[in-house]
Amino acid sequence: MGFDLVIRGATVVTPGHTETADIGISDGRIAQLGGVMTGAEELAAGGLLALPGGIDAHTHLVHQGLSGRLDSPIWVDDFWSGSRAAIAGGITTIGNMTYPMPDDEGTEETPGAAIARELAGAAPEAAVDWFLHPVLTDPAALPPGEIAALAAGGHPGIKIFLSDPDVAADEAALLATASAARAAGSVVLLHCEDGAMLRQAGKQLIAEGRGAVANFPAARPVAAEVAAVEVAIGIARRTGARVYIVHLSSAAALDRCRQARAAGLPVYVETRPLYLHLTRERFAEPDAAKYVGAPPLREESDREALWAGLAAGDVDTVCSDHAPWTLDDKLDPALNAVTARQGVADLETLMPMLYSEGVRPGRISLDQFVEVTSANAARIFSLYPRKGAIAVGSDADIALWDPGHRRTIDGAHMQSRSGYSVYDGWQVQGWPRSVLRRGQLVLADNQLTARPGDGQWLRRNGTPVP
Ligand SMILES: [Zn+2]
Repeated sequence: MGFDLVIRGATVVTPGHTETADIGISDGRIAQLGGVMTGAEELAAGGLLALPGGIDAHTHLVHQGLSGRLDSPIWVDDFWSGSRAAIAGGITTIGNMTYPMPDDEGTEETPGAAIARELAGAAPEAAVDWFLHPVLTDPAALPPGEIAALAAGGHPGIKIFLSDPDVAADEAALLATASAARAAGSVVLLHCEDGAMLRQAGKQLIAEGRGAVANFPAARPVAAEVAAVEVAIGIARRTGARVYIVHLSSAAALDRCRQARAAGLPVYVETRPLYLHLTRERFAEPDAAKYVGAPPLREESDREALWAGLAAGDVDTVCSDHAPWTLDDKLDPALNAVTARQGVADLETLMPMLYSEGVRPGRISLDQFVEVTSANAARIFSLYPRKGAIAVGSDADIALWDPGHRRTIDGAHMQSRSGYSVYDGWQVQGWPRSVLRRGQLVLADNQLTARPGDGQWLRRNGTPVP
């Protein structure tokens, strides 16, 4: 029979299985894998890897019309520039953090209202498929039934910052929120740094005259991360809620998670590229502020532990935490070790850097690469197997990966409006040549062919069994 499109001769890498096979695609889905097939269109892919499109479950994109309402600088990618960056790097699905914003009277939106606004704002912009994580800035003040309503609305998780000392201090509200999430089958995403310890460490640095951004790592010690990870594990133990620790950065925190998982607790671990590729020596550079993300860059031993954790399956996902600022905004001399702007652009570089630094030298296998860049996020956020696999019935989200292609990172000429990359000058081998999102070519021979608004919002698959 004839399909809309046949991809010929690629090595297909899907969780647990690798083989050279043709891929038949119809109506945006994978219709046949291997065997005899013909297509209305054909794409020759000999010598390329066919990988499940990347799923970056942690981004900070800001839809148009929002930045104008704020009186301070904000992340510079909207869902269109963010989509372009994602696609250029092999990513076809993102999970974005949705923050409540103040209205004209200064009253903060409810999480549900923020989601409604972002669903409308992102739809005309996104070219990747997308889902949203509502950020709960004040769990104690949630409208009754809000967690259940968000889950029923199709949103797979909620995000809470334990780095906010007021949020962390209200244990009753945290536990009630996590219990509601457990009942609704929602994942609880937690930023794990102890807010009270951060406040104390920051105050002390400023008082000692050591407030320069170069001391950012000292303002956010490993002990603060470990303390908050222990709180997160306690929440999983006491409520049964699935907790997902975003951007885990240290060996000590990873150890705690490993023990919790061994004890059967539903604790998921995400790390981000910064901690796999860079260490705190970067803060000795003159433009130290460009490396600021929270938690901060750690020691070489932490970096090694995270790679080992990826190889051992102790780390579930590598997500970008794409939070792009212009270099001018990052290097603003008015900022200090406490107020420095957190986050970097990483959507376009996440997969190529992980492939080049991870798969090529043998730190992780190709199968593990696919797990941590796609399949695991799909499973955790209830999108599997529609997303996260190259299998009959799955969406035809495919990165046709050229393992031999070399490129030097140059953020000034990449898709993010950030205009720089923390990896500028790095030699990276292994890039997507073409990318399909639901069967549509969105990157064709290194040329972006995506259009804004073609991305679809993704509702989680039913209610997962907690
Ligand atoms: Zn983040």
